[in-house]
Amino acid sequence: MAEPGGGRETADQFAVVIRGGRVVDPAQGLDAGRDLAIEGGAIAAVGTDLRGRTVLQAAGCLVAPGFIDLHSHSQSVGGHRLQAFDGVTTTLELEAGAIPVAEAYARAGTEGRPLNYGYSASWAAARIQVLAGHRGDGRATTMLSHFADPAWQREATAAEEDRIVGLLEAELAGGSLGIGVLVGYAPGTSLGEYLRVARLAASSRVPTYTHARDLVDFAPDARMDGAEELVRAAAETGAHMHYCHVNSTSLRHVDRVLALVDRVRREGAVVTTEAYPYGAGMTAIGAAFLAPQRLGERGLRPTDLVYAPTNERVRDADHLSHLRATDPGGLCIVHFLDETKASDAALMRVALAHADTMVASDAMPLTWLGAPADEAWPLPPSALTHPRTAGTFARSFRRLVGEGTLSVAEFIRRASLLPAGVLAAALGGAARKGTLAVGADADVVVLDPDAFCDRATYEASTQPSTGVRHLLVGGTPVVRDGALVLDARPGRPVRRS
Ligand SMILES: [Zn+2]
Repeated sequence: MAEPGGGRETADQFAVVIRGGRVVDPAQGLDAGRDLAIEGGAIAAVGTDLRGRTVLQAAGCLVAPGFIDLHSHSQSVGGHRLQAFDGVTTTLELEAGAIPVAEAYARAGTEGRPLNYGYSASWAAARIQVLAGHRGDGRATTMLSHFADPAWQREATAAEEDRIVGLLEAELAGGSLGIGVLVGYAPGTSLGEYLRVARLAASSRVPTYTHARDLVDFAPDARMDGAEELVRAAAETGAHMHYCHVNSTSLRHVDRVLALVDRVRREGAVVTTEAYPYGAGMTAIGAAFLAPQRLGERGLRPTDLVYAPTNERVRDADHLSHLRATDPGGLCIVHFLDETKASDAALMRVALAHADTMVASDAMPLTWLGAPADEAWPLPPSALTHPRTAGTFARSFRRLVGEGTLSVAEFIRRASLLPAGVLAAALGGAARKGTLAVGADADVVVLDPDAFCDRATYEASTQPSTGVRHLLVGGTPVVRDGALVLDARPGRPVRRS
């Protein structure tokens, strides 16, 4: 029999208890009504009748490890807040990466971030520095502003390749989470250079994250088929090759690409995949594959592009050339697939539902019509982005779980546990994330499965998703009772030691 007394009662209380939700944690095979207790930023107990000094009600809600987004370029307070309402607790810039990563981490630390964050070493920024002479400052927007410069897209000499690889080695020593390889934006790159970068990743025991080169199906002049190149690097070097947004780089050839991935996986290569549930992409208008003479490769016309800084549809080839010349880093929406067409919607579903494909957003930086107001909430209508920034996870949930393709537990596995595995590979040890096991970081999403729904559209791209009731990062609420905690900046750097 327990002794009565104030001391004992205090000792039995946890800092935070999330009460009465359906706790879904695929890592533990747990899917049951439970309370979840948090102490010192970590999961302290999973049980029943737990008592807390702060109690968050979760009746009718799913309680899951917060989603881990391996692919987000939206590394700002406003971008993080949009992702918080989409269930994300850790958001990582791995595909493009940063150089120097030290500057990117320092800036995020000084400004404060609602969500956990981290960066890979940027192969593209290393190339821009070596081949085009522009030093990086750790910002994605600076890198994008040099995207149209053909100097960084050409084949490197042996000496230049040495310098590019040397820069990446230094960035890996500085704690970055692997190497981001935007090879699809630098068509002159040799296969040899790509394999060398993969070898560096393999010997450093970190993953790479690739935006693949064009497929020969639509770009017969490509130096190499993008999918073949990626799986060959995995097979030949032993590197963990993460295949970014397999939906948008495969388009109508997604079956062929995924069959190739499956084949090398069966042979023992480590290739992981991710997808987002939208038919349009977003990138710098100066990207090589958006040159007017190359649009036809993807079946695009200039009018399939919407230029974000003015939110206007591109009129014709001359208009496109003008925008590419005057603002090569300006972001634009590119309507690749028509989501209203059943055949195109089916392609997106194939990519998303394929075995072990993770949900990842490719969230974009906010583009501002006028002066930036990143700290404002709700975001004013002068902020534009791709709807995937705000809605990827809710939309995937609605498509995959709501329409009966995946179970809730399988969705959580793809949104939290599998990306935590990639992160563990990058960290060289357990990530302490992607699970609600006792001792794990208290990154938790509490969402109403009936209300979890994306609201962002191409016309209103910064509408937050609905249905997240609470979202905790390291045990601190960023969303509480459905509302943003305005001063919450509990995000911590995720970085190799
Ligand atoms: Zn990409």
